[in-house]
Amino acid sequence: MEIESLTFPGVDTMRPVIIAGPCSAESREQVLKTATDLAARGIRIFRAGIWKPRTKPGGFEGIGAEGLPWMKMVKQETGMLVATEVATPYHVFEAVKAGIDILWVGARTVTNPFAMQELADALKGVDIPILVKNPINPDLELWIGAIERLYGAGIRKLGAIHRGFSSYEKKIYRNLPLWHIPIELRRRYPHLTIFCDPSHIGGKRELVAPISQQALDLNFDGLIVESHCNPDCALSDAGQQITPEVLDYTLKMLVVRDNAQTTENISVLRQQIDEIDEQLLSLLSKRMRISREIGTYKKEHNMPILQSGRYNEILDKRGKMGKSLDLNPEFISEIMKSIHGESVKVQMEIMK
Ligand code: PEP
Ligand code: MN
Repeated sequence: MEIESLTFPGVDTMRPVIIAGPCSAESREQVLKTATDLAARGIRIFRAGIWKPRTKPGGFEGIGAEGLPWMKMVKQETGMLVATEVATPYHVFEAVKAGIDILWVGARTVTNPFAMQELADALKGVDIPILVKNPINPDLELWIGAIERLYGAGIRKLGAIHRGFSSYEKKIYRNLPLWHIPIELRRRYPHLTIFCDPSHIGGKRELVAPISQQALDLNFDGLIVESHCNPDCALSDAGQQITPEVLDYTLKMLVVRDNAQTTENISVLRQQIDEIDEQLLSLLSKRMRISREIGTYKKEHNMPILQSGRYNEILDKRGKMGKSLDLNPEFISEIMKSIHGESVKVQMEIMK
């Protein structure tokens, strides 16, 4: 695939391109108020979900085609370009008919090659940018495969959106960033326009700014951020949406780095360190949970907390394991003593 960078009429692509707007279009008033507030702060591309893929039935599944005229009004009243998600040929038909300027394919749809092929067929001849989110599972080939299906249908205005990956464990992020995956996508397709979606990665308002900064440090081409005129009352993804005012402040605080290669290299390495630390912390939290369960068992069976045989076995085994992994055994011994000490403390609390 020969994929070139995207351009958007009236948008400066020398700076990060910002797409912003609510998770879902909810009412004419909410759409127009959010859009005018964003436009007043210089945002040129408006997003809003018209059809919403929800994990379980019963939630707000989007206003549907009824909301498309509101998007048209946004264009007329603010001059912004408008973007929405499509998941079926019917969505494509309705969105194109309504004059939507940019389409994106959501993470759940990208996981399904049948759905992607149907979309690609429906999009044949449509000459507007199509942005492909990463699939919910961390599979770069599936992501690229979805882009290839669109490319195979003759679509050349292609971009990608990194929105993070699902995981079962309780974690800091709603969707793990696994930055090495979009980094590898960039390596394979150097001109592909890649956006970061800090809202769906973080899942919380306060994570939007730091994730956006990480994305800019990694040279992403733009951000797609969820912004709502009244986030607490949003019908979907309330916890991760920010007001246009907060978005404006956040964007002003972001540092857009120089393209110097050295900075990029060190950011890539630091990103990896951050991810590994997050994994270490989740593992420690899991270890402590299990330790608490053992504490409860010991209490119920009237067993002592400390069993020195087991303690020595842990120190000895981990020391050897560390050595085989090129880790200083004394360092490993210190870490294990500290972790074990905390476990004992936690179990003593339970025994009390
Ligand atoms: C969205 O952008 O509102 C959305 C549903 O995102 P994703 O497909 O990334 O979950
Ligand atoms: Mn959302």
